[in-house]
Amino acid sequence: MEPSNAGSSPAGALLVACLLVDVTLVVLSVVAGLVLGEELEPVVAQVPELKRLRLPLWGCASCGASRRAGGIWGLVPIAGALRVRRACPSCGVTPEHPWRPLGLASVSAVVFAALGLRLGPHLDLVAYDALALGLVAISAIDLEKLIVPVRVLYPTLLVTAALLTASSVLDGRLGPLWRAVVVGAASSAVFLCIHLVQPRGMGFGDVRLAGLVGFGSAWLGDGWHAVSRAGVAFLAAFVLGALIGLVVMAASGTGRKTRIPFAPFLASGAIVSVLWGAPIAHAWLGRFG
Ligand SMILES: [Zn+2]
Repeated sequence: MEPSNAGSSPAGALLVACLLVDVTLVVLSVVAGLVLGEELEPVVAQVPELKRLRLPLWGCASCGASRRAGGIWGLVPIAGALRVRRACPSCGVTPEHPWRPLGLASVSAVVFAALGLRLGPHLDLVAYDALALGLVAISAIDLEKLIVPVRVLYPTLLVTAALLTASSVLDGRLGPLWRAVVVGAASSAVFLCIHLVQPRGMGFGDVRLAGLVGFGSAWLGDGWHAVSRAGVAFLAAFVLGALIGLVVMAASGTGRKTRIPFAPFLASGAIVSVLWGAPIAHAWLGRFG
């Protein structure tokens, strides 16, 4: 093999180095997403009904015996998720949601990979991975039970805020942090108004979640762009919610009585804003400027 030309010029070497960093980051993000996303299963299965998590975490809902494969296979993420889809070895009852661990793992892996590519190897990436993981769990619970559990929302807010504060302090820039706090509080206030006018359409859980989404998306925007970043998140949430809501109403035939969980749309809006908030806000504000 002849020595690569790309490596001989400084620009080529830089390109190869960047590509290597990106590939490594995506691979690590996918593995982290699969492992951590799968571990959301006990949270999604237990949090809506119990005050405290029941042990073993992967216990059968019927007899409590561990459903997680023992030995070496229990340690391999997707192998573990595929095994728990089968009937319980102790009581023979099949799990209610056999594919859910795999769904949680794959969605988390895809989102982690996209965030890895977008944010690069920084502390911010860990903060947004934590936010994404919490949003995946909240969305899954809201889809199934129509609730936004504070026992997932508050820890997610706490961990994300702690990591973003650490990142702000390390960068020596506290501006993004206080802007994110103000935008997060304002987002909750706006959603509270919608909730007071239309309590059936917008639950109080969505009011709390809007604060987390506003905070998380605003942190990435400079100056007034903190507001437009949050604007992109909520605009995307309402557009996606309206489109999919119409399809669901038409398909179910129950019209406006259908209760549609809004957390998955708020979560998707937050991810859209983190990934493409800058270009969308630019195109959007450019139309008025
Ligand atoms: Zn069992």
